[in-house]
Amino acid sequence: MFFLSSLSKTDPEVARIVSSEVKRQQTQLGMIASENYCSLAVLEANGSVLQNKYSEGYPGKRYYAGNKFIDEVESLCIERAKKLFGVEHANVQPNAGSAANMAAYMALLELGDKFMGLSLSLGGHLTHGSPYNFSGKWYKVSPYALDEKTETLDYDAIRKLAIQEKPKLIECGYTAYPRVIDFKAFREICDEVGAFLMADIAHIAGLVAGGAHPSPVPFADVVTTTTHKTLRGPRSAIIMCREVHAKAVDKAVFPGLQGGPLEHSIAAKAVCFHEALQPSFKDYAKQVVKNCKVLAGELMSLGCKLVSDGTDNHLLLIDLTGRTITGKDAQDRLESVGIVCNKNTVPKETRSPFIASGVRLGSACLTTRGMRESEMKEVARLIVDTIDKFDETKAKTSARVLELAKQFPVYPELK
Ligand SMILES: *Cc1c(COP(=O)(O)O)cnc(C)c1O
Repeated sequence: MFFLSSLSKTDPEVARIVSSEVKRQQTQLGMIASENYCSLAVLEANGSVLQNKYSEGYPGKRYYAGNKFIDEVESLCIERAKKLFGVEHANVQPNAGSAANMAAYMALLELGDKFMGLSLSLGGHLTHGSPYNFSGKWYKVSPYALDEKTETLDYDAIRKLAIQEKPKLIECGYTAYPRVIDFKAFREICDEVGAFLMADIAHIAGLVAGGAHPSPVPFADVVTTTTHKTLRGPRSAIIMCREVHAKAVDKAVFPGLQGGPLEHSIAAKAVCFHEALQPSFKDYAKQVVKNCKVLAGELMSLGCKLVSDGTDNHLLLIDLTGRTITGKDAQDRLESVGIVCNKNTVPKETRSPFIASGVRLGSACLTTRGMRESEMKEVARLIVDTIDKFDETKAKTSARVLELAKQFPVYPELK
């Protein structure tokens, strides 16, 4: 592969930075729950000349000429998305998860309408009604919470709040929630109060596609997702919906919010869906969950408190409440030995979100590298050593992390 050959000639400065990042990904263990390593095929499509083409509009209805092949690739992407998720309609133009959510709200709500989403501090996303985000500024938000004891969704409490607040839309799907979501329960609540159900499966899309988490498609009016997290595609997003909402969704994306679609990214999404339609992706999704459960079990047996005492999906949250070490310290220590994760707030958080009392860990990246249960157990031990006995274990752990990274390589073709 002619990796960066033109870039190195034209702009050695940027080429050096990109090469450094390749090396970082190859030599550290990525455990950020929202990340993954996409295939070289996805990277090639994403870096293709399709990015040169303007194609405002939709296949067959463009504002510019020259879109024969662009129409082909976008139609292919749509068909694959529909097949992968078994959905009636797909819009593959959103540029990011946040943009997809903005379009979904625009399709279903008027400015000032009320919706319900999980609070950011409990695992919801910024775009689910945070006061710092457009979603909290342009709409009225009645956030729901988790049950304080089980730290899981409390459908009775959500139902009561919905009856009291009468929202026009209820949103489920999260950024830092380690448990299964009962989409049917949400549908029943929405039907009772006459609300739309929106499912944002940005995190779990790969598990849904691979059959390792129930699908919201039979229950939700609109489903949004990113394509770069467990789905392992390019950094992008799509919106899926029932046919009745198709027009509103398409109009919200274009001309409502976006101009020319990123067709190179759409091509890369098509490749991602093709990969996710292969039988091996089911094995991958299952292994992601299996690995995360083993990681969770080992961490707990080594004395870690996990939010909700475990996991059903690709992520877990270590709760450091009551310990002297903060989420930020834990994140920094782990990074210094080559394990990359993020600090995260936990239920009943007492620290600022910039410090936080938890760390979030995901298994998708390490599973892509080929790690299985025995490696996850070892990684759990390395994590606990780093959190609890940093000074004594740092050198040894760093060396072992590097060995594991080499033993389970990522992008071996990129030197
Ligand atoms: C990651 C995420 C998004 C946002 O995706 P971006 O592509 O970063 O804008 C939206 N919703 C949820 C639940 C997410 O986890």
